[in-house]
Amino acid sequence: MGRLVVVGGGIAGLAAAWAARAAARRVPGGLDILVLERGEDVGGKARTISRDGWLVEAGPTGFLSGGAEMDRLVAASGLAAEILPANAAAARRFIYHGGRMRRVAANPLGLVRSGLLSSQGMLRLLAEVVIPRRRDSSDESIWDFAARRLGAEAADRLVAPMTLGVFAGDAHRLSLVASFPTMATLERDHGSLIRGLLARRGRMQSGTLTTFVGGIQELPRALAARGGFRVSCHAEVNRIARVRLGWEISVGGDGTTITADAIILAADSAAAASLLREHSGPLAADLAAIHCPPVGVVALGYGPEGRKRIPTGFGVLIARGEGFRMLGNLWDSHLYPGRCPDGHVLIRAMYGGGVDPQAGTLTPGELATLARAEVARLYGIEAAPCFEQVVQWPRAIPQYELGHSARVTRIDEMTAALPGMFITGSALHGVAFPAAAAHGVQTGERVVEWLSARPADWHW
Ligand SMILES: Cc1cc2nc3c(=O)[nH]c(=O)nc-3n(C[C@H](O)[C@H](O)[C@H](O)COP(=O)(O)OP(=O)(O)OC[C@H]3O[C@@H](n4cnc5c(N)ncnc54)[C@H](O)[C@@H]3O)c2cc1C
Repeated sequence: MGRLVVVGGGIAGLAAAWAARAAARRVPGGLDILVLERGEDVGGKARTISRDGWLVEAGPTGFLSGGAEMDRLVAASGLAAEILPANAAAARRFIYHGGRMRRVAANPLGLVRSGLLSSQGMLRLLAEVVIPRRRDSSDESIWDFAARRLGAEAADRLVAPMTLGVFAGDAHRLSLVASFPTMATLERDHGSLIRGLLARRGRMQSGTLTTFVGGIQELPRALAARGGFRVSCHAEVNRIARVRLGWEISVGGDGTTITADAIILAADSAAAASLLREHSGPLAADLAAIHCPPVGVVALGYGPEGRKRIPTGFGVLIARGEGFRMLGNLWDSHLYPGRCPDGHVLIRAMYGGGVDPQAGTLTPGELATLARAEVARLYGIEAAPCFEQVVQWPRAIPQYELGHSARVTRIDEMTAALPGMFITGSALHGVAFPAAAAHGVQTGERVVEWLSARPADWHW
């Protein structure tokens, strides 16, 4: 029987294990699948904390529904009845700019009325339809793309805060084509974003923000429990060596080793780099170069006074230069029921990311004090929070900086030169939860293809 070891029990690793299990009948002699996770539980960034009647997401708020792979994973994990789409309030999104919270309206008049864009800024944005398509195929930053097509004002006031919301990232450093590929495609195919959006109206899949009744970690936990593969937690992989018939994996510090015909590295890119350094220096160097700055998440719960002061909606992103260190707030209890005791409100303040990696040096206590003060100032809340939870991710969201697509092509090529080695996870092909899940599924299927095509007498 063949053996597949998956390193990392986040959504990408579990999705890969599940997909490999689903296809495993094609492997001659069958396939044993083992997921090794260094933490005490599966889920990785998808971690839900439930305490004293409060339900806090340490990482993803939810995922956009509609992806084929996510649908398959949800069905396979038996969670269809637990699906929880966000309330309609999720459509109300705000940007803090010029000392005020402003609604991001979906129409030009609303954007001008909210004061987010000046009338000149709006006219420049609408002139996008006549801006010629870019001929140069070199990588372009999100900010440069937005300024070229929509004008500098929209780039600063609309697109840069949105980049904070999606990537906790710096629009000047992130690559447009790697981070927002649909935008690049709209320009390429239609010559204009506005014309492209109009032409594709009704056909653009946007999805609904969705989670599960018990929080997002329900999915990784259900996959681990019902996926038909073995999972071992507290199992940190610290070395991978080549042996004649495949690979040998060292786990923990006590000399335990496991042999495998194939490995899927679904740990983050820094862990993958250190495990692969002895097999390919250039591959390790490319993996290690993917910047993944820290993010601090401070969940705060308030009673009726806070509830009155926090607007209904998804949350607010804070433009840089407005005197706040936080990147924005998510208003969790407006999004989903069951997040806090009745009459209360739960919000999360986000810090760090590509625009402020120094926030990673704050202690949990310093972060909580900062968040309490900034939230009180932003909303005018005088009462102290009655609930608090700090989560710090030393490596949070990978930044697809300029050159990312070329780097990923090199990584994929160099990994293919190591027979039986596969890499998945959010550092490469999409930072969102459903993208990590989808790439995990595709990788699990590719491993089975490779194992079933391998000659019976294969060795290094
Ligand atoms: C604060 C925050 C908010 C987010 N919000 C959203 C959102 O609202 N919507 C959305 O779609 N996405 C969101 N994301 C992104 C989403 O969380 C990720 O895309 C996804 O969870 C990544 O999954 P993964 O399996 O690739 O990596 P991870 O979840 O990081 O899993 C990797 C796993 O590998 C394990 N590991 C590492 N090294 C080793 C080793 N040597 N041995 C064994 N195990 C190892 C780790 O412990 C971890 O469990 C957010 C992320 C963060 C940090």
